[in-house]
Amino acid sequence: MRVVFFGTSHGYPEPHKKCSALMVEVGEKRYIIDMGTDITTDLIDRGLRPECLSAIFITHMHGDHYCGLAPFLNTCNWLYKTTDFALYLPADIKQFSDALEAWLGLRATPIPVRKFDYHKINEGLIYDDGVLKVTAYMTKHCEESYSLLLEAEGKRVLYTGDLSSKHGPEYDFPRAALESKVDLLICEGAHFLATRYMPIFDGCENISRIWITHIKETRVGSIYELMEMLPDKQIVLAKDGMEVNV
Ligand SMILES: [Zn+2]
Repeated sequence: MRVVFFGTSHGYPEPHKKCSALMVEVGEKRYIIDMGTDITTDLIDRGLRPECLSAIFITHMHGDHYCGLAPFLNTCNWLYKTTDFALYLPADIKQFSDALEAWLGLRATPIPVRKFDYHKINEGLIYDDGVLKVTAYMTKHCEESYSLLLEAEGKRVLYTGDLSSKHGPEYDFPRAALESKVDLLICEGAHFLATRYMPIFDGCENISRIWITHIKETRVGSIYELMEMLPDKQIVLAKDGMEVNV
C-alpha cells in the first residue's frame, strides 16, 4: 500500500500546500481520501486519469475536505464519462446530488448530469472490495465527521481526519483502532498543538510511524516538539507530493 499526499494544508491553502486530499494505491487500485482540492491535475501529472479510481471517501463536509469534488465531478460528467468510482459522503445524499445537479446545470450549454454512485458514510465497516477495507470511526470534530482505518495487503493505515478542536485529541481520537498495530498513522495538525497527542502516542507500541498532515504553519513548532518528545517514533511533516510506502 502506498499513500500519496496531494494536499496537506488545513482550512485554506498556504504556499505550495493545497487543502486535504490523499491518494491510496494498492496494486493497480486507487482510492481518494478527502478532496479539499481538485485532484485532476495531480492524477494527470502522474500519468493517471480519473478512470483509475475505485472509490472516494470524504471524512466530513467542511470545504477544505470536499470542495474539490465540484470541479472534479464536473470533468467526470462531460469528459471522463466512464469513471466508475463509488463516492462515500457523510452527508444527505439527495441534498448533495441536487446541489451538484443545480451547480452543473449552470453550464451555458447544458448537458445531462450523470448519476454518480453515492453512499452515505455511517460508523463501522463501510467498504470492502476485496482489496481495501475501510472502517469509519465517528469523531467529534463536527456533527458528522469520521476517522478512517484502511486495511490492505495485511497493513493498517489510520487517518484521523479532523478531530475535536474544542477538547483536543484525547476526546475523540479513534483509540479502538490502536488495539492492533497501525503501520502508518496519518494525523491532523491544525486544530490543536501536536503535543496534545502525547497521552495517546506515548508508550503506545502499536504506533511507530506518524505522518502529520492538515498542517497549520502556526502549529509547526509543536510538531517539532513532539518529535523531540518521541525520538523512537518516525514523525514526518507531510508536504504536497510526498509519497509513503506502507
Ligand atoms: Zn473540518
